Amino acid sequence: MKYSGFNLALQSLFKHRGWQPAWRAAEPRKAYDVVIIGGGGHGLGAAFYLAKYHGITRVAVLEKSWLGGGNTARNTMTIRDNFIYPDSARFHREALKAWRGLSADVNFNVMLSERGMTTILMSDRDLSDARRMINTTAMFGAEHRIIGVDELRRRLPLMDDSERFPVVGGVDHPEVTVARHDAVAWGYARAASRLGVDIIENCEVTDIVLDANGVAGVETSRGRIETRKVGMAVSGHGTQVAAMADVMLPVETVPLQAFVSTPIKPVIDNVVVIRSLNTYFLQTDKGELVMGSVANPYPSFSQQCSSAIPERTLASILQLFPAFERLKLMRQWAGILDLTYDNSPIISKTSTPGFYVDVAGSGGFKTTPFAAKMHADLIAHDRPDPLIEPFSLDRFDTGRLILERASYGNR
Ligand SMILES: Cc1cc2nc3c(=O)[nH]c(=O)nc-3n(C[C@H](O)[C@H](O)[C@H](O)COP(=O)(O)OP(=O)(O)OC[C@H]3O[C@@H](n4cnc5c(N)ncnc54)[C@H](O)[C@@H]3O)c2cc1C
Repeated sequence: MKYSGFNLALQSLFKHRGWQPAWRAAEPRKAYDVVIIGGGGHGLGAAFYLAKYHGITRVAVLEKSWLGGGNTARNTMTIRDNFIYPDSARFHREALKAWRGLSADVNFNVMLSERGMTTILMSDRDLSDARRMINTTAMFGAEHRIIGVDELRRRLPLMDDSERFPVVGGVDHPEVTVARHDAVAWGYARAASRLGVDIIENCEVTDIVLDANGVAGVETSRGRIETRKVGMAVSGHGTQVAAMADVMLPVETVPLQAFVSTPIKPVIDNVVVIRSLNTYFLQTDKGELVMGSVANPYPSFSQQCSSAIPERTLASILQLFPAFERLKLMRQWAGILDLTYDNSPIISKTSTPGFYVDVAGSGGFKTTPFAAKMHADLIAHDRPDPLIEPFSLDRFDTGRLILERASYGNR
């Protein structure tokens, strides 16, 4: 049933007993045209776009646990396009634009909210990196601008730069957006299911079956499924799943943590980034401050939290925002990321025919709709759209890297 004001009013007459489950809990079939491994935003999105734009509906999304339980529901929701290299500035610009209209496209409110982001700059190097980023992204239509210290203080009245830190200015990113992350997974799942895609939870892919022509199927915890095309969107499990198809991914898997405070009245309406301290925070609609910083400095598949990162992050925030001193932390959590060596995503064919990968990289929530669309297009046509050509796996052989790791958008 379509979600609409009319149907909401209609269902209220029947005490809302007429709503159906958002997606069908499908049983695995013997064979599919395409199997997508991973029921996060990227995998579900790819399945939806395969059905919607390419008419390929014999598609299964296989998820080893529950939908959106991976990084899609663990991230801090920030959708930004402040990248420094032209290939990634163009890609992330398209990614930011792809969010507009998503709610209508999937008939599910993903609660997109244009919050804006303010980056605090504390050195001449920060300033010159910011200018370079602004010039690059302007070529693709972005609207970032440098702001002076006075304007920064007006925007962030709780910021206290009188004591230690030489704040030299800021960057205003008016188009930075946040979206309700789990709604993205649910919205895609519901829309894909309505188009005939099978969404199969609690179904782990344990092996990829290969023959002389490439992919021939997948082995799962619920039996073998035949298919000639597999799309992988498994976030922190990329190396393990790709190895099943004899593909070695140039990534390192690291935990990334985030934490929230107890709720307070609205005090910050932007996403705030303290660039030199590699720290950011925002306030949710419920009033909690959501905070995050860098990934753990060691590789691991564990989603366990440590105290070192929150302590460091809180210390950084308190130095500039001492008013938050008495807030209490309410929750902390971690997800695991497949970090590529240049910190840019991989959306690519592989050396195994029929095996395609979408490795979201460090901050892949922001790219969900666009990456999913491009991944679906790649699977359908077996060739990359020019916009994602630079993001192929072969860049690690040719050396044409997109080295965002050392750049402005390093998170
Ligand atoms: C703390 C934190 C904060 C972040 N903040 C941001 C942010 O502010 N902005 C941003 O852009 N990005 C952010 N990210 C990154 C972002 O969350 C991820 O890049 C993105 O959500 C990846 O989406 P996905 O669909 O590829 O992966 P996921 O949502 O992780 O989905 C992958 C799914 O694959 C499943 N799976 C794995 N192996 C198998 C298998 N063998 N068989 C079947 N299923 C399998 C998993 O169970 C999982 O559900 C953050 C990440 C973390 C951890």
